[in-house]
This record gives sequence, C-alpha cells and structure tokens, in this order.
Amino acid sequence: MNKPKRYLITSALPYANGPKHIGHLAGAYLPADIYVRYLRSKKEDVVYVCGSDEHGAAITIQAMKEKTTPREIVDKYHAMLKRNMADLGISFDIYDRTSSPLHHETAKEFFTTLNNRGDLEQKETEQYYDDEAKSFLADRYIIGTCPICANKNAYGDQCEKCGTSLSPEQLINPRSTLSGNAPIKKLTTHWFLPLDKHESFLREWILTEHKLDWKVNVLGQCKSWMDLGLQPRAVTRDLNWGVPLPLNVTGCEGKVLYVWFDAPIGYISATKQWALDNNKDWRPYWQDKDTKLVHFIGKDNIVFHAIIFPVMLKLYGNILPNNVPSNEFMNLEGDKMSTSRGWSIEMDDYINDFVKKDNGSDQMVDALRYYLTQIAPETKDSEFTWKGFQDAVNSELVAIFGNFVNRALVLMHKLCDGKVPPLHLDILDDVDKKMFEDIKNTKINIENLIEGYKFRDALYEVIDLSRKGNKYMQDKQPWILAKTMETNPAVQKSIDNCLHICLQLTANLAVFINPFLPFTAKKICHLIKVVDKILDWENAGKPKLVSVGYSLRPPELLFRKIEDEEVQEQVDKLNAKKLRMENEQKLTAANTTAISSSQVAEAKLEIQFDDFTKIDLKVGTILMAEKIEKSDKLLKLEVDLGYEKRTIVSGIALHFDAEDIIGKQVVVVVNLAPRKMRGIESQGMILMAEDKVGKLHFVKPDTMIDAGSSVS
Ligand SMILES: [Zn+2]
Repeated sequence: MNKPKRYLITSALPYANGPKHIGHLAGAYLPADIYVRYLRSKKEDVVYVCGSDEHGAAITIQAMKEKTTPREIVDKYHAMLKRNMADLGISFDIYDRTSSPLHHETAKEFFTTLNNRGDLEQKETEQYYDDEAKSFLADRYIIGTCPICANKNAYGDQCEKCGTSLSPEQLINPRSTLSGNAPIKKLTTHWFLPLDKHESFLREWILTEHKLDWKVNVLGQCKSWMDLGLQPRAVTRDLNWGVPLPLNVTGCEGKVLYVWFDAPIGYISATKQWALDNNKDWRPYWQDKDTKLVHFIGKDNIVFHAIIFPVMLKLYGNILPNNVPSNEFMNLEGDKMSTSRGWSIEMDDYINDFVKKDNGSDQMVDALRYYLTQIAPETKDSEFTWKGFQDAVNSELVAIFGNFVNRALVLMHKLCDGKVPPLHLDILDDVDKKMFEDIKNTKINIENLIEGYKFRDALYEVIDLSRKGNKYMQDKQPWILAKTMETNPAVQKSIDNCLHICLQLTANLAVFINPFLPFTAKKICHLIKVVDKILDWENAGKPKLVSVGYSLRPPELLFRKIEDEEVQEQVDKLNAKKLRMENEQKLTAANTTAISSSQVAEAKLEIQFDDFTKIDLKVGTILMAEKIEKSDKLLKLEVDLGYEKRTIVSGIALHFDAEDIIGKQVVVVVNLAPRKMRGIESQGMILMAEDKVGKLHFVKPDTMIDAGSSVS
C-alpha cells in the first residue's frame, strides 16, 4: 500500500475468565506496543485498541467454577487485566470491554446488516443437548477424547493439548460438563457465515497479495485451513450469556451471537468508544483504504483474524487488515505454559513479586519487556527460564547497556566538569567517525526491522550499538589519557571528543530504546536533562542531541542485578504452584467420579513385596468349558498351563457362555490350595476384572503367548 494516512493497531482481546500469563504478554501485547510506540514517536496518526472479551462459554464455565455470576467474573478479571497491562507499560489508547452497551449495539448492527443483505445462511441443525440439564451445549460444554492426540479432556471447539480446532462431532465419547452424561442430539436453528463461498477471494487475498509480507507461520496455517475445505460457520449459539440475537422471530429466544463473531467486532466498538471520548471520527479508521490495519495476535488466533474476520469485514464494507503478525508459543522451563496446570507466570504475580517489591520501580517492567522481546517466539516456539531472565538482565542490560550509559556519565563528571564537552573537528579520527556512522546505520536498521515486525532483531540492534559504545570507550581510554594531562595538556581535546561522542550516543540510545523499554528511555532523558520530546524518532541517528556546555545530572544505575536467590525463589514458587494445581485437580476429579467410585471396591490393606511373591501367577489357555449341572453360576474349565492341565471351577457362568471362552487365555493363580465345589476339585483360580456395573472381563496378555508364562 501507499504510505498510510493513519494506523489502527489491535491486540487480541484477552478472555476475562482469569489472570493472563507472560506468554500472552509476549504474544500479542508487547510486540504491538513496541510497534505503536515506534509509530507514535514518528508522529503517525495511530490508534491502539484492545479490550476484554467478556462473552462465551469460557466465562460461564468460570462462573460455575467460582460459584458466582458471569457478570462478577468479567468485572473481576476485566479490572485485573486492565491494571496489569497498564502496569507493564502496554499503552493502549483504549482498553474497552465487550459487555459494554456500545459493543452490544455495534455487534447487533453488524449482524443485522449482514443478515438483511442475505450474507448469512439460516439452517436447522442437530446440536448436542443435555437432557438432564435441559440445555443445549455450547462447544465448550462438551468434552471428550481428541481424535488427533487422544487427550481425554479435549473441548468441543479445541484440544488444548495439541492445539487442534475441533467440532463437538469429532470428539470420541463426548460428554456434557453439566451433568457428565452423554449428550443427545436435538434440532435447533442457527445462522451461518458461509465461508465456503469466499474461498477464492481468500486464496487470492492471502496467498497471492500477501504472499511476501505476511509471516510464514500465518500463511502456512491459512493455507492448511483452506486446503481442508472451508465450511459455513455458525454465528449464533444457544447460550444465556452474550449479545442477544437481534431478531424478533420465534425460535430466537435464548440465542446469542457466537463469541468468535462478536469478539473481533469489539475492535470496532472500542474504536467508536475512543472516538467518542476524544471527540474524533471513528469511521476513517475502519473505512478509509489509506488506513493501515494491523492485528497482533497469538498463534491460536490466526484463523479468526486471517480468514474469518476478514470475510466479515469485507461483507460489511470495511477495510481489511494489512497484516496479522502472529507469534508462536512461549514455553516455560521446559514445558508448555498453562494457567490451568499451574505452569505459568501470571502478569499479576510478576508485578507483585518484582515491580511492587522494588518500590514500584519501572526498571523491573523494562527488565521483563527486555527479556520477553529478546526471546520472542517470532518464528518458532521459544522458552522462558528464570535463569535466562537473570542472564539477560545481568549480562546485557546491566553489563552492556546500563554500563555504557553509566560510564559515559561518570567519566564526563570526572574528566569534563560535569558538562557536555565540545567536539574538536580538527582531531576527529576514523574511530570517531565510525561511531557516528554506526549510530546512523542503527537507525535505518531498526526502522526496517520494526516495520517488518522483527522486534527481536530490532532490539538486538540497540544493545549492539551500546556494545559498540563500550568498545569505543575502551579503545579511546580517556581515563588513561587523563593521567598524562600534566605533561601533555593537549590530550584534553581527545578526552572531549570521546565523551562528546559517548554522550550523543547516550541520547541516541534513549531514542532507540524508547519503543522497547519506555521507562528506561525516560530515565536517560532525566539523567541528561532533556525533555521527553527528544525521544521523537526524527531525532534518531542525529549527532547533536545534547548541547555543548550543558551540565548533566550525576549518574544513577539504570538497572539492578537479579540475584541468584530471586531466581531460585521463583523456580520454587513455580514448582509449588504446579503441585498445588495438580492436587486441586485430583480433588475435583475425585468429586466428579464420586458417584461411580461408590460402586468401586475399596482398596485393600497394604502388603509387603514378600507377601505378593507368594502368589504364583501363570498364563493359561482354556481348552474346555462346560456348565456344571444344578448351578447357574459355575463353569468347569480345563486350563492348559504348558507343563500340565488343570481343572478349575469358576463362578463366571452368568457372564460368559461356555463355548465363547474356549481358546481364550487367562491369568491363573496356580498355587492356591485345591478346593472342592459341587463335588469337583478346583485346582486353581482364574483372575477376572469387575467393572463398576459388575460385569466381568478377562485379565489376560495383550496377545497370545505360551501357556505357562509367569505373571509378575
Ligand atoms: Zn488433541
């Protein structure tokens, strides 16, 4: 596109169903914030919108868990998310919420417009229904076994273990989370977005037009989705929490807009609310083709933002996103990050443990922003470790970046009277010129990288420039020159040049680091006594940001080191949390199976290994079986043990027909004292498993093996 007139930047709306972790922060929020801060420093017209996604079954399920109402859930977590994001420097122009009246109105109008134009299809479908709870079941209310990875607790819309999007029909052994029963199918009417009709548009738009500027992971996911065949997708749902269906016809009661349909419309309603609050017009941001719309999202949101929402936008007549930069996942200490499994670092916890403990110090916000950007999963999954966090802060922020700024200020106070020394052009050498050159090139490199959504590499450029600054200082060694001052006063000019350049570099570092670590940039401005306006991007790369003769403040450290104990404390805390969650989940699982467990035989008393070894278990093959006269329970079996044949009387006649079990293998207790039953001596016992309804099953090897094989 031509140079955009304005930018509209969005970050994926987080679900207000619980705290969010730093993997979320690294995925959709921090990169967007860096991009937006960069655009703002370039004086671009940019609006950055986000908000809480407050609808959908994830909210009502959380309300059930916390024994409260959906309203209380969203109020609680919306407040938390809004506060957390602000504390971590995510600079939204508005952080809205989808339960707002303006959003309901906007989403209803969107649906109605599409429906009136005939862009939606109405279909009667069979849907899962819980007959005991008298309720249709939203996808999230159905769990079952994932057909891809066999995870037993996959949801009806997605398997959280392997990440596959599913429909409830694909689940094996589906069951309702309301009653635990197998759901039945019942007819219901729904409205559908016929994605299949838009396939050729999507292919052209994504795979041809954006072939070069979209990320490979995004293109790949879109292509494989389309190759699977696009299906009409229901935009309405039977649920009592959400945006009510804006139609006044029979059969619409108890229906709401499906959350995936209403949530992205939240970007539009947030823009409207921002415009209202700031006396602006929202329409150009969504309707003028000179607006550059960019959706920052996580990996699990690609399909919605690259395929589904664009179809909605196109049908409505809005502009389409120019890009949908998505990150892969960030893992934690060797495992997938997950709040529900307790393996995560919540934003809220980081703020409490680091930012608030450090007297509200913003340097710990920037420390996190630094490490998360440095390990951003831009092209593949990455991993957060507390040790890695410590190393990044101590050996890069403290030892390279912070060290350079500190030394420049210390030496200026020591060797130049606390004032910015002049630059003596007559003695400017190649090393000095190279430093100026590096500053200029860094600007160009950062611009290209940020505009290409490569924030990790862009940040590397900043650190690398400060590394070059350290090297420059080391090459010039003004502190050594100072020692020769008495015999050779002319060296003052060399000292001046070195520190002049180091201070100009310091000011440039503030401009360069500003989109990434905004609090650090401000702190540098404070130290070199310049107004924040210097952070405007037009100043980037310039050789004269601080004036000669200007007196600067005494140095203060920009960053503190992370101690070993802090790292250990966090690792311990993480392990303890995981253990606690596992125990809680076991308790929940125990409660939900309480009904069936009452039918399960109690565990027996503990025995020693020696007790167990007294029992001789062998695999036998049933050669013959017949009913014993005048007994409806007993079968007389002839069992081959390889080395001998045994007669065994077994009480299984109610469960098996004699002719059906001939040839089957079974585990036999062979050293049980013989016992007479109905006049027949039983020389052993066969093992059977009894399920909860009392039906018997054979205990046997998983494949035919030699009779007489030991079992131990
Ligand atoms: Zn799976």
